[in-house]
Amino acid sequence: MNNTDLTGKVQTVLGVTEGDQLGITSSHEHIIWDMSDYFEEPESASDKKLARQPVSMENLHLIRARPHINIDNMIQTSEEIAIRELMDYKYAGGGTIVELSQNGLARDPMALTRIARATGLNIIMGSGYYVGLSHPADMDEKTEQDIADEIVRDIMVGVGDTGVKSGIIGEIGCSLPLTDNEKKVLRACAAAQRRTGAAINIHPSIDDDALLENIAVLKNAGADMSRVAISHIDGFGYSLETRLKVLEQGCYVEYDGFGQAIFHFFYMGRIANAMSDIQKITDIMELIEKGYLHQILLAQDFCFKCCLATYGGYGYAHIIRNLIPFMKAKGMTEEQIQTLLVDNPRRLLEFTPVKK
Ligand SMILES: [Zn+2]
Repeated sequence: MNNTDLTGKVQTVLGVTEGDQLGITSSHEHIIWDMSDYFEEPESASDKKLARQPVSMENLHLIRARPHINIDNMIQTSEEIAIRELMDYKYAGGGTIVELSQNGLARDPMALTRIARATGLNIIMGSGYYVGLSHPADMDEKTEQDIADEIVRDIMVGVGDTGVKSGIIGEIGCSLPLTDNEKKVLRACAAAQRRTGAAINIHPSIDDDALLENIAVLKNAGADMSRVAISHIDGFGYSLETRLKVLEQGCYVEYDGFGQAIFHFFYMGRIANAMSDIQKITDIMELIEKGYLHQILLAQDFCFKCCLATYGGYGYAHIIRNLIPFMKAKGMTEEQIQTLLVDNPRRLLEFTPVKK
């Protein structure tokens, strides 16, 4: 079971399409998700009460400040809300969404097909495993070959008996430190990439050296590093030196926390989301000046309700509607914006045989 006819094509949840059909693409989002496995029970009575309330205007100011405090904020399973939110993205000019809620984030292939039909957007679905915390109980028993076979099946046959096929591998979870099972998954991703030509998206370990270790595991397993995207490059506090090392390996760096600087949180000892949207744009300009325009991806990686317009957030159209004017003000040209929002994600999503 190997890639036979996907070369040069993009695979959406509704089937194969051409790269020139994608248009503006958000490279890392969640549309339907359940992150409640990552909820940590608070200690105080008032936090426990807040944890179990629905998100509303009465508690939004508390939830925005601490997005993990509320279970409802970590779950978005309404197709009606998803469609309304995505129509806003479409009306703003968006064409494609890469949806990376795979195993561990409650991936829902059939819901994604209904949402794709309702909105007319291209939706690209992920495959693989998120961080170890969400791995299935039998993960120790699975071999690298088993996991590679699962990913290849998602891409070539479809998820389970749905017939709905993944178009990218990811987001693949890496904890700090990287666990043995996570290493096994990374190696399996490289093997699945060699068999399918799909790109890989990594949720990296939140530490500079550990991120470089994630990349080394993939590289030693034979991954095509020019077809690997490193997520959360803006949110996890990596130094410029580390980001340049990632770029020198040929990977894409993904600035996917746009619209999230309204909340900050501690994640494995670091402050996540410390950078404002404007700082991100300044950073990106710096990387463009160093010659890396073609290795940068943009997204919003919404996985909290408070990011959605329905709940007072910026919504999926934030980059298109609110940030392009700032990109231009910082000196970005129309061509560069087109490269970031259209050409780079297209190149990533088009299946490409790995050079032997
Ligand atoms: Zn994500």
